[in-house]
Amino acid sequence: MKEKWQQLKEWIGESGNIVFFGGAGVSTESGIPDFRSVDGLYSQQYDYPPETIISHSFYMRRPEEFYRFYKDRMLFTGAKPNAAHKALAKLEAEGKLKAVITQNIDGLHQMAGSREVLELHGSVHRNYCTRCGEFYDLDYIVKSDGVPRCSCGGVIKPDVVLYEEGLDTRTLEKSVDYISKADMLIIGGTSLVVYPAAGLIDYYRGNKLVLINKAATSRDSQADLVISDSIGEVLGAVTGVV
Ligand SMILES: [Zn+2]
Repeated sequence: MKEKWQQLKEWIGESGNIVFFGGAGVSTESGIPDFRSVDGLYSQQYDYPPETIISHSFYMRRPEEFYRFYKDRMLFTGAKPNAAHKALAKLEAEGKLKAVITQNIDGLHQMAGSREVLELHGSVHRNYCTRCGEFYDLDYIVKSDGVPRCSCGGVIKPDVVLYEEGLDTRTLEKSVDYISKADMLIIGGTSLVVYPAAGLIDYYRGNKLVLINKAATSRDSQADLVISDSIGEVLGAVTGVV
């Protein structure tokens, strides 16, 4: 095993209050494209730039176009958890990891068995009628024609944080609480450029800050350990799930 991987394994062994903070890179290994990467959604051809379509004002103004893009490009119903998701679920089951904080909206952590998952940007699995508040699952959205509607006639909106919308205050507060109490913070699959989520890292007070990302991040110099490998390979190997 590589020296840095071995170091990570030792720290995990010593820690009892690990928190994981993850970005799009955790899901790309399950075949879900990264929004902001060159090969991701942003480079794909569409009538409007994706960051316009996935905005609150566009959703309000052009719900048909919003949903055409959303169903076509943002829902990946066949995606399965990868070794990173499984490793984190295992660490939680062992009592070592306290929470997964994620920027992803795909629900793969829960599918892998994680229980305490804080979804900063919401989830495609939760959808609510904007008129009566009735809940609808992902399957209902996928099978709907055009703009999904409630039995009451109201429009159904995914519980996903769109551009121009704020993050859920309670989720943010819980994330800050977990990070500030953690003895080890593992950050993976994010280049740490998306605020305010990326600013959460500043609440960590310990001395085991680990960054796992294929490309360099803006916070590499702050980290106690930087691993530039696939997050699934690293976490899978050090926890023994693969
Ligand atoms: Zn309704």
